[in-house]
Amino acid sequence: MASPLAVGGNQVVVIGAGIGGLTAAALLARRGYPVKVFDQALVPGGCASTFKRRGFTFDVGATQVAGLEPGGIHHQIFETLGMPLPEASPCDPACAVFLPGETEPINVWRDPIAWQQERQRQFPGSDPFWQLVKTLFQAGWRFQGRSPVLPPRNLWDLGRLLQALRPDTLVTLPYTFATVGQVLRQLGLASDLRLKTFLDLQLKLYSQVEAEETAMLYAATALSVSQAPQGLFHLQGSMQGLSDRLEKALVRDGGLLQMRHRVQRIHTQAGRVVGVTVENSKTGRTWVEPANHVIANVTVQNLVELLGDQMPQGYRRRVAELPPSSGAFVIYLGVEAAAIPPDCPPHLQFFYHYDGPIGDNNSLFVSVSRPGDGRAPAGQATIIASTFTDVAPWWHTTDYPALKQTYLEGAIQRLSSYFDLSPGHLIHVEAATPRTFARYTARQQGIVGGLGMRVSSYGPFGFANRTPIAGLWLVGDSTHPGEGTAGVSYSAQTVVEQIAAA
Ligand SMILES: Cc1cc2nc3c(=O)[nH]c(=O)nc-3n(C[C@H](O)[C@H](O)[C@H](O)COP(=O)(O)OP(=O)(O)OC[C@H]3O[C@@H](n4cnc5c(N)ncnc54)[C@H](O)[C@@H]3O)c2cc1C
Repeated sequence: MASPLAVGGNQVVVIGAGIGGLTAAALLARRGYPVKVFDQALVPGGCASTFKRRGFTFDVGATQVAGLEPGGIHHQIFETLGMPLPEASPCDPACAVFLPGETEPINVWRDPIAWQQERQRQFPGSDPFWQLVKTLFQAGWRFQGRSPVLPPRNLWDLGRLLQALRPDTLVTLPYTFATVGQVLRQLGLASDLRLKTFLDLQLKLYSQVEAEETAMLYAATALSVSQAPQGLFHLQGSMQGLSDRLEKALVRDGGLLQMRHRVQRIHTQAGRVVGVTVENSKTGRTWVEPANHVIANVTVQNLVELLGDQMPQGYRRRVAELPPSSGAFVIYLGVEAAAIPPDCPPHLQFFYHYDGPIGDNNSLFVSVSRPGDGRAPAGQATIIASTFTDVAPWWHTTDYPALKQTYLEGAIQRLSSYFDLSPGHLIHVEAATPRTFARYTARQQGIVGGLGMRVSSYGPFGFANRTPIAGLWLVGDSTHPGEGTAGVSYSAQTVVEQIAAA
């Protein structure tokens, strides 16, 4: 009798039903592949899922969606799947950024002209920087639109990369190794504290690192996607709208999604993937699921764990030497609508002290529900605030509840300078730490949001979707083009094309 590991046939196993895994699974099922998705959590969506408490629906992590505009990545994918787009409205401003001691925010308007005027008012003399951002973004966006494979790992990938290059891509080449910090110095803008701080705050949000470290080509995209014709969007109902539709398409096309099923191990034979060991968390039963392709929708650190010493040593070393990734502390508040100031923008970013870090409650990114958007009962609202935090202290502390309480109180105190969080207005208070994210999304140590878009780890120099093990693919925010539901959907689309070509 053949070993169960030798009969994978055409089957694709997807580890994880985050947006990356679900997108890959739904697209493959649409093309007729037999697909099984296993996720250890209770609900699909990973960092872009939701939970409900006392009539409120809270978005766990992601609150804004890029790529819903016509031609945007989610738009393309839902069109391919024949699914209606989730109902959404543009965020305008995409973000209102409050610098220390300032009561008037920097509004990142969706309209490019309004945003240009705002920049000219807020950061006089910075036009050359923004002009460069625009030039690099336009060339980079057209390049990405031609679906390059980055970084290429074989001739097919290289062919895809070369066909995406055009004469207009040449303008980006001199900036391949540049950081935003270097460009600011070249342009004589490094001493503009407000500009530098604004960039640090926004880049930390989208690239996990500040201006000094962020690759300029990545920053050009991160700093431009909020404007029309692109834009950031607020989903009606909740973030679960994305995964719900992907799941529906998957099941309609014959795919299987099993929640509360943890993949414990990926198996290989002679350098090729052959299956995975799955554990049903409800019954404790484990079995080996054969597969011809395995798509891992996990962090690159988790991928190494799942393979153990089957992963080549060079890859393991590269992962071990990565700079530490960030975690997040998130506070979820269900409040009376009276807690929200009139005309409150839906997304705000606060930075409290120039001499403090961007994180650990000295900066907060805040998302507020809108009346009738499905997240709160009438007359009430949700406020979700997140701050970056190192993961290590959350695992090494001897008093985790006390550390969590200190962060919770700190966040409420900081938020109270803008919102009216008097006790009568607070209906529900809950917080998530790196330990919470580790538990619910299985991300090693609860790191979130990707690896950091440094020159050494973005696009051409990042982790490829094609791993050193034949038939084993990596999707999600550890790979190009990085974090966010739009980013991980690109990675899924690339892998589907690679599998189809194989
Ligand atoms: C606080 C916060 C705010 C954010 N804000 C935004 C935002 O506004 N907009 C935006 O676009 N992005 C935002 N992001 C980032 C975005 O949420 C993520 O980059 C994206 O959702 C990651 O998707 P993914 O598919 O790569 O992986 P994940 O969401 O991590 O999903 C992975 C899935 O795999 C499952 N899994 C892992 N290991 C196993 C295993 N061994 N067996 C079975 N299942 C497994 C997990 O349960 C999980 O469901 C935010 C993230 C956080 C944390």
